[in-house]
Amino acid sequence: MTILRLPLPGGQTTIINQRPESTTIMLDAQTMFTFDAAGRLHGAFVQGSTFRRSLANAILEKRPGPPAGLSSRQRRFLTPAEVQALEQRAYDTAAEVLAHIQDQGDASAGQAPAAILAALARVASYNYDKLEDEREVYERLYKPVTILPPDQYLALYLQATEGCAYDACSFCGFYRDRRFHVKTLAEFRAHMDAVRAFFGEALTLRRSIFLGDANALMIPQAALLPLLDAVNTEFVIAPPGLTGSALRAWKEAHPQHLQGIYSFVDAFSTRRKTVEDWRALAAAACGAPISGWRQAILRCCASWASPTRLPKRKP
Ligand code: SF4
Repeated sequence: MTILRLPLPGGQTTIINQRPESTTIMLDAQTMFTFDAAGRLHGAFVQGSTFRRSLANAILEKRPGPPAGLSSRQRRFLTPAEVQALEQRAYDTAAEVLAHIQDQGDASAGQAPAAILAALARVASYNYDKLEDEREVYERLYKPVTILPPDQYLALYLQATEGCAYDACSFCGFYRDRRFHVKTLAEFRAHMDAVRAFFGEALTLRRSIFLGDANALMIPQAALLPLLDAVNTEFVIAPPGLTGSALRAWKEAHPQHLQGIYSFVDAFSTRRKTVEDWRALAAAACGAPISGWRQAILRCCASWASPTRLPKRKP
């Protein structure tokens, strides 16, 4: 982490906090903008409101009550005009800070660490129009990401399947907009290449890999293992078993690493896979190239359903 305190002409002191995964510009206790490593606005805090920007260039505002407490927090999506205004303000702020460092000449610029100057230059390459252009790329890359577990909001989403193989739970309409489709290995590789190109340096902000959509683990074993091999070939997954200083050293050497592969799993698919299938997945995880698989956490989606709605298991 690199921190720079920068006095501005108006008497304010801006604090710039640069990390491998993000750059934050803090103007005062009420105004802060965070950008990912590529330069996209990721979040902001302005006058008591927290803002989170999605890759589809939508911004969610979260504001405290009254009354106090998480349950009375107000949430709303900004209108397109408000999105544009907030993004403009964030990028104007970053441009002003960068220009101020550069205007002060070599002596002052020399005090600004190179990492901060490089990060601000990447931020300066962005604006509202570019984020809008990227929204279109993002929407070509993915079918809408309908739901993720809260601890996976910063996962790198890979759509190994599209939709839900069952898609008939009466309470759920998550994937009614698409036909279920399992990507072939060639399709999945092309998808991963495009995802990697889209994220670029911003991969450092992603913490794990999430295999979408609803139940990617229903893919038959013979097709699933090659897909997982391909994930491990394309991305760096943190090896299991490292702790303490060894883990810190490994992470430093691999700034674009991801911690494990995650997926939903529905109640039907778990019953279709045999114990040997799960053992084979675990065993395959012990050796290259799919070491990340050992860390997979399987989440049950359809188990939310009343058991009476689940199809009877075939004898
Ligand atoms: S299995 Fe999950 S995603 Fe599919 S319809 Fe049921 S609740 Fe929805």
